[in-house]
Amino acid sequence: MFLSSNLTSKITMPKIYTQFTSANNFHSSRLKGKVALITASTEGIGYAIAKRLGDEGASVVISSRKEDNVKQATDSLRKDGINAEGLVCHVGDAEHRQKLFDFAKKKYGGIDILVSNAAVNPAVSPILETDEKVWDKIFEVNVKCSWLLAKEVYPELIKRGGGSIVFISSIAGYQPMEPLGPYSVSKTTLLGLTKAIASEVVNDNIRVNCVAPGIVATKFASAITSSEAGKEKSLSIVPMNRFGKPSEIASAVAFLVSDDASYMTGETLVVAGGTYAHL
Ligand code: NAP
Repeated sequence: MFLSSNLTSKITMPKIYTQFTSANNFHSSRLKGKVALITASTEGIGYAIAKRLGDEGASVVISSRKEDNVKQATDSLRKDGINAEGLVCHVGDAEHRQKLFDFAKKKYGGIDILVSNAAVNPAVSPILETDEKVWDKIFEVNVKCSWLLAKEVYPELIKRGGGSIVFISSIAGYQPMEPLGPYSVSKTTLLGLTKAIASEVVNDNIRVNCVAPGIVATKFASAITSSEAGKEKSLSIVPMNRFGKPSEIASAVAFLVSDDASYMTGETLVVAGGTYAHL
């Protein structure tokens, strides 16, 4: 509990901040009435983002490549009292993306928020030894699909009179992580994409921001977090000396898409336990 019963009886909390979620976390309802579409959201950081936006009142549309994952994640969010719908969407498939937008509109009447979270890193190697096919795959999913999702959601946000886009980059976008060279560069590109799109849509009441997570112990990062040697090396750059939690990335996204960040656009929030981040 955040406040002792003694204290709660004396303090009158503003209404907007008095909602307890099913997880008993202390969240606001600042996203009530919003529809959020989050890609790659059936586990890890994407799932945590869907959960957090849902906890704050948004209706969420989740997606990923595998039907079973979509079903399980949608059921799990609903069990937590979240208004959630899910659909299979490989972000690299134009038809899937179109179906996802149509699905969101059909279920909830429109889209206010896009969180572009999908990324791949199919192989690790020194950057100058990277196979061209691997390079292309990384840039196709991590950069081109992020750009396409933004381009395709733009008319939908216009219809709603504005909205918010968040890209998920990485601390590796600031300091390339060995042996994640091409992946790191793709994530640096998202910082530029954020700024470029943000300035183009600034007069449409659309804000575009980015979150650069530090190392979070998900399946995606297991290569650098699961072994003792990997853990030690990874944590050597993290002043807080621990990995981040998906929920700690999700809270930054929730802030950026809310009115609490109404004067922020084109920015990247680094959420990385104090890891040095400078380009
Ligand atoms: P994760 O736990 O492994 O989850 C990946 C999710 O993406 C799953 O739901 C997966 O479901 C889905 N997915 C994978 N490829 C997809 C595709 N092509 N299209 C649609 N969905 C796809 O990964 P994560 O660690 O949460 O990573 C999420 C984001 O955070 C990525 O952009 C990553 O670069 C970034 N990030 C992660 C870390 C970290 O340390 N974990 C650090 C910095 C940045 P299916 O298998 O069903 O498709």
